[in-house]
Amino acid sequence: MSTQPAHPALLIPGPIEFDDAVLQSMGHFSESHVGPGFISVFGDTLSQLRKLFQTTDPASQPFVISGSGTLGWDLVSANLVEAGDDVLVLQSGYFSDGFADCLTTYGAIVTQVKAAPGSRPQLDEVEKALSAKNYKLLTVTHVDTSTGVLSELKKLSELVHKVSPDTLIVVDGVCSVACEEIAFDDWKLDGVVTASQKAIGCPAGLSISMFSGRAIERSQTRKTPPSSYFASMKNWTPIMKNYEAKKASYFATPSPQLVRALHTALTQILDKPLAERFARHREASDRIKKAVAELGLQQVAANPDDQAHGMTAMYLPESVKPTDILPILGKKGVVFAGGIHKEIASRYIRFGHMGVSVLDPSRNDIDKALTALKEALAECGHSKA
Ligand SMILES: *Cc1c(COP(=O)(O)O)cnc(C)c1O
Repeated sequence: MSTQPAHPALLIPGPIEFDDAVLQSMGHFSESHVGPGFISVFGDTLSQLRKLFQTTDPASQPFVISGSGTLGWDLVSANLVEAGDDVLVLQSGYFSDGFADCLTTYGAIVTQVKAAPGSRPQLDEVEKALSAKNYKLLTVTHVDTSTGVLSELKKLSELVHKVSPDTLIVVDGVCSVACEEIAFDDWKLDGVVTASQKAIGCPAGLSISMFSGRAIERSQTRKTPPSSYFASMKNWTPIMKNYEAKKASYFATPSPQLVRALHTALTQILDKPLAERFARHREASDRIKKAVAELGLQQVAANPDDQAHGMTAMYLPESVKPTDILPILGKKGVVFAGGIHKEIASRYIRFGHMGVSVLDPSRNDIDKALTALKEALAECGHSKA
């Protein structure tokens, strides 16, 4: 049982509910960021990330930097592309637009392959786009948190390696790492950026990423200096290497408390086979999606093959607005999120089901949420017999 004070179950697509031990790690006494205790924990945390991303290639480089998930976009934009470079963004919703904006901010020339809300670019469209220009980089949102659309990374990567082998493949995995399978080496990915507060289950405040040797080399052989100071891989790479080698190093002060919480979260994650973790998220997701369908609700992600396993975005009945139902759910002790895809935002809500809410049955979060959803719909005048 959780020893946290009673509170509504936070079932939005990040931040998620946190395990007690993870939260308790945040209460660690103050320590030097270059002292032996913290160096050891930070070094181990970076090594743990190699396991989470399933990479054994020594050239792969993990980064943990204070910031939110968005900082990962800056890291990519400031180091892996130069002003004037062409970048292909596969657009599957709100967060792909954000990544495109970030790349543009740093001078990249962005071309988007756009999908209708609830869908994702198809491989033949991507192939056509890749054949038209020489793209330095391609970005894909693994799970678009605005729609619950899941992208298929393995086949996409095979395609990119076949038709445009010099194009780096970068994944926005903010809403997928630790709940969807990501085989960094096997799928030949060049970058995956994520954040602490989603499926990893650690409080917000850490940008977490993995880059391939090829990506690191790209950052080192660019003609112009990195176009950010704080987000410079040139500044951070030696720091990460030193911590992992258990050596003191300083560029900008990390948060010892957050890194300790991340270490606890990763220790819990890696305590069991990753395949089991992904399977349990899939099972919970199947159960939730079935229940949602039985309530008469359509999912935003229309194609079952493209549905994420850590969240469900569902259209409401026409007569029910998110602003009607979300407060009712809140009163029943369940926090869901409203829509954020700009074309459909007022028509749907989002249910995040990641981490302890799925893995710790003693919390009963999922059943509680499904019951609350059913009752709330009925209170809004929509009941399905
Ligand atoms: C949440 C999210 C982000 C942004 O992360 P922040 O921590 O809010 O900066 C980016 N991409 C995806 C897919 C997300 O789900």
